[in-house]
Amino acid sequence: MESSAVTSASARVVTTPAEMHRVADEIRAAGLTIGFVPTMGYLHDGHLQLLRKARELADVVILSIFVNPTQFSANEDLGAYPRDFERDKALAEAEGTQIIYNPSPESMYPEGFQTQVNLPGMTNVLCGVSRPHHFPGVAQVCAKLFNAVKPHFAVFGLKDFQQYLVVTQMVKDLDMDLKVVGIPIVREKDGLAMSSRNVYMTPAEREQAVVLNQSIKLAEKAVAEGERDAARLLDLVRGHIATAPAADIDYVEIRSIPGLATVEGRIEKPVLLAMAVKFGKARLLDNTVLLREQPNANV
Ligand code: AMP
Repeated sequence: MESSAVTSASARVVTTPAEMHRVADEIRAAGLTIGFVPTMGYLHDGHLQLLRKARELADVVILSIFVNPTQFSANEDLGAYPRDFERDKALAEAEGTQIIYNPSPESMYPEGFQTQVNLPGMTNVLCGVSRPHHFPGVAQVCAKLFNAVKPHFAVFGLKDFQQYLVVTQMVKDLDMDLKVVGIPIVREKDGLAMSSRNVYMTPAEREQAVVLNQSIKLAEKAVAEGERDAARLLDLVRGHIATAPAADIDYVEIRSIPGLATVEGRIEKPVLLAMAVKFGKARLLDNTVLLREQPNANV
């Protein structure tokens, strides 16, 4: 079935929630399914993998590019966040993306905007400790984007594992009619997780940032060899990261899945090993699931 909203090879750019509603309604009325990839733009291969997954799952792929102000604190990098809309559009079109939703902050948060979305138990831990506004802002914007885009599937990267769990929980709690799909972390050749923020690093910091993935591999190897003690695994990981002089650890933790409770003592079932480490201006995330039954399986 065809919809006039999606027939052209170049992507249609939608800039307001009202227009997005109309386009989504038209697609759904034509009997087509929508796969949605929310991003802040400055696309890299990780984002392109999400678009590929969305295309595999649905008839119409909608990419959103929106640097959401409500998930940044005043002292963070909202103004400096890298942007290149034309390049993003060309990359997304090459992946078969039919619609790009690129709303302005004013259309998303007009004067008088009130509604907050919070999941206190999951948003005050890990990244939520040093970034208290972050996950309430992410949950808020995802709720708005889902309402406007009306997707059947929303595809998220497991690089932001906590975000994936928060969004999944919100969708469940609020009876949102869509499926949240997670895809494995996409990495550079040397193992660094791809991120739009990697461009903030100096060449020396970039070289040292490889310790994150190395430390994860050390933990995975230790677990494969029988290590089950959470404290010893954390020591191993922190010790390796500390070999990089530029590394400034925000946190390295082992937490339960999906509740993100602290894990102490022996690990007995799949747990999240997650870290945030600053290298100069870049705050980098990485993670793995230890004791995962199938390596690289989608969660
Ligand atoms: P961002 O634009 O950085 O907010 O990310 C948009 C989406 O892309 C989120 O679902 C991220 O988890 C995902 N993503 C970013 N980097 C990667 C990566 N290296 N591998 C997989 N997914 C990623």
